[in-house]
Amino acid sequence: MQKQQPKTVLITGAASGIGAELAKSFFEAGYQLLLTDINEPDSQIDFPSSDKSVCFVGADLAEESSCKEIVEQGIARFGTIDILINNAGFQHVSPVESFSEQIWHKMIAVMLTAPFLLTKHVWPGMKQNGWGRIINIGSIHSKVASPNKVGYISAKHGLIGLTKTTALEGGPLGITVNAICPAYVRTPLVENQIEAQAETLGISKQDVISDVLLKSAVTGSLIEPSEISSLVLDLCSENAKSVTGASWNIDCGWTAQ
Ligand code: NAD
Repeated sequence: MQKQQPKTVLITGAASGIGAELAKSFFEAGYQLLLTDINEPDSQIDFPSSDKSVCFVGADLAEESSCKEIVEQGIARFGTIDILINNAGFQHVSPVESFSEQIWHKMIAVMLTAPFLLTKHVWPGMKQNGWGRIINIGSIHSKVASPNKVGYISAKHGLIGLTKTTALEGGPLGITVNAICPAYVRTPLVENQIEAQAETLGISKQDVISDVLLKSAVTGSLIEPSEISSLVLDLCSENAKSVTGASWNIDCGWTAQ
């Protein structure tokens, strides 16, 4: 019997937090990794960077041309990209009347236009293979809003539209598309917010966690990145071929209220 080629996964924002955990989990599960980020991966990623099944491409996803280049480099290295995980993102907190237009455009570029462009560029290969999995890392802020996060929340709501539309187009081609919508996950993105909010509100970091971040969390604790990667791995399996167009809350009960 012919040996099956391992599948290749493209993960954006792979240098930190959820992306780094995704990289580690997919590596342990035997996938080939095409990782990209504006920053070099940090020490959290514990697999040998010299491993020939791992390729890192440094790129700024705010630059539209980067998306095509990342996919071209991945195909040149591995021959195919089977799974795309649109994960890169960042937060900016400001009231709408003083929200910087430049930051607005960058947020839409990184968290909505780049996922669209990467989807567009991996699509022909997935269509040819009759198999593909696309996971868009949304947020609980893809479903509900909070004040002072207009750029982030608009981009993350848009990502659900991208997910649903491409799921409909991908269904007949063997390509599934799903979004994951987490509440607060223990990553540098959130740790920075804790510090900033403690300063703004004049309260301790512990009070920011319990009284602000976990106010609507009935489970009472931050989410660990491994909880996200576990669901993503399931959605990328053969058995998940009928799961598409959905947005999966990991929200500690937030939206049940
Ligand atoms: P993180 O800050 O730890 O990681 C985000 C990564 O994206 C970083 O490595 C960063 O360098 C990269 N990135 C940012 N801008 C980029 C750009 N222009 N080009 C290329 N790479 C860029 O944050 P995280 O918490 O791991 O977030 C990952 C994803 O999960 C984001 O899309 C975020 O919105 C989403 N999310 C996070 C939480 C949370 O509580 N941490 C909750 C819901 C959704």
